[in-house]
Amino acid sequence: MSTQLPGTPPGPAQTSLTSPGLRGIKLIEEFDLKEKRVFIRVDFNVPMEEKGGAQVITDDTRIRAALPTIRYAMEQGAKIVLASHLGRPESREDMQYSMEPVAMRLGELLKAEVILIDDPTSDAPKGLLPGLRPNQLILLENLRFEKGETKNAREFALQMAAYTDIYINDAFGASHRAHASIEALPQTIEKKGIGYLIKKEIEMLDILLHQPKAPYMVILGGAKVSDKIPVIEQMISKVDQFFVGGAMAYTFLAAQGTPVGTSRVEKDKISFAREMIKRIEARGKKILLPIDHVVANDFLAPSKIETTKDAAVPEGFMGLDIGPKTREMYRKELQKAKTVFWNGPMGVFERPEFAKGSFGVAETLSQLTEAMTIVGGGDSAAAAEASGYAGQMTHISTGGGASLEYLQGDKLPGLEVLRNMRPSVQPTL
Ligand code: ADP
Ligand code: MG
Repeated sequence: MSTQLPGTPPGPAQTSLTSPGLRGIKLIEEFDLKEKRVFIRVDFNVPMEEKGGAQVITDDTRIRAALPTIRYAMEQGAKIVLASHLGRPESREDMQYSMEPVAMRLGELLKAEVILIDDPTSDAPKGLLPGLRPNQLILLENLRFEKGETKNAREFALQMAAYTDIYINDAFGASHRAHASIEALPQTIEKKGIGYLIKKEIEMLDILLHQPKAPYMVILGGAKVSDKIPVIEQMISKVDQFFVGGAMAYTFLAAQGTPVGTSRVEKDKISFAREMIKRIEARGKKILLPIDHVVANDFLAPSKIETTKDAAVPEGFMGLDIGPKTREMYRKELQKAKTVFWNGPMGVFERPEFAKGSFGVAETLSQLTEAMTIVGGGDSAAAAEASGYAGQMTHISTGGGASLEYLQGDKLPGLEVLRNMRPSVQPTL
């Protein structure tokens, strides 16, 4: 991360961001933050678990991912307000969704004092901000405790605007939602832009959209074909080779007439799968399906786990991971890739018996030192992390739904609201 040194000439007057998806959007570095009240929308929606009556963060990746932007704002002498949602609370009484553990973790990571404000609509932020010391910052309590957040309410937005001079969005994982802190608030703010996390996310995804180096290979897995249809549609013309795994594979195998036992099949998507295979092959491109599987007699309490000889799943069994021959075939083929996008685990990786397929893919990607390797999707990111190879990927998107929506060509409300397509330097007459 390059922060500007004092004395270095300022960047281009317009905006330093050139990636197509960031046109007309400013980066945090383009504002003078000193003594300004800077509202940073972050994505601190971290997974938590109850342990001994307390909520404990099980993965702080999202908090760490926001640190460069927060640190930059601190170094510049900003008065910082951080805000995020966390889970889906019904009301303010759902205290398991409190930001308290996040405030603690963030304080440790930044070695700063994080002041948690219970009520973002109160006068507290406005009152506290002017006197905030350099090693202090404010974190608002879970935004979804406020009904106005998910309603994109202008009233709630104006209450937050009352203590915002500059608005920065660095919550990539929430940018596909038109919520008050993402859309209505920046609508009312003149000085607004993005942080380093969103910058990197969009730059990476823009490479996949606009200039993937061939061969471009896409690994698709996960729970459902139906979740992924729009992104498959968008990619079909650009991708050289598809690899299918996860539950999704069984709908494709069923489309080819291969027996799939009791595996998860989306019957109403079989014709889509058949059509997709045809379209890919008609372009002279390849789509690979599993040639063997790890199968079990039951999903919740498997007492019999076997590896099949071939692509057929025996009667009374369901496919829960790709098998060893498939792993090897995918590994070999992926060696040739220059660009790889992976979305969707190859099996039920949450259980060690069915994790080898996903971890194998992660290992293979970690070895592709010449290729650009991008992982998108919440569970895929978790699988990559659990494999131990996450550090060797080019990029792991922190925004599951947002990255897929962006890749399928949808506009993200959280980005659109920051775009200023008029020239920012008005001609002086
Ligand atoms: P992502 O969040 O990366 O987009 P998905 O949400 O589509 O991924 O899918 C992840 C889920 O799919 C995981 O919880 C995993 O257990 C499940 N899954 C993968 N393979 C299978 C399978 N063969 N049968 C049932 N579920 C599967
Ligand atoms: Mg998921």
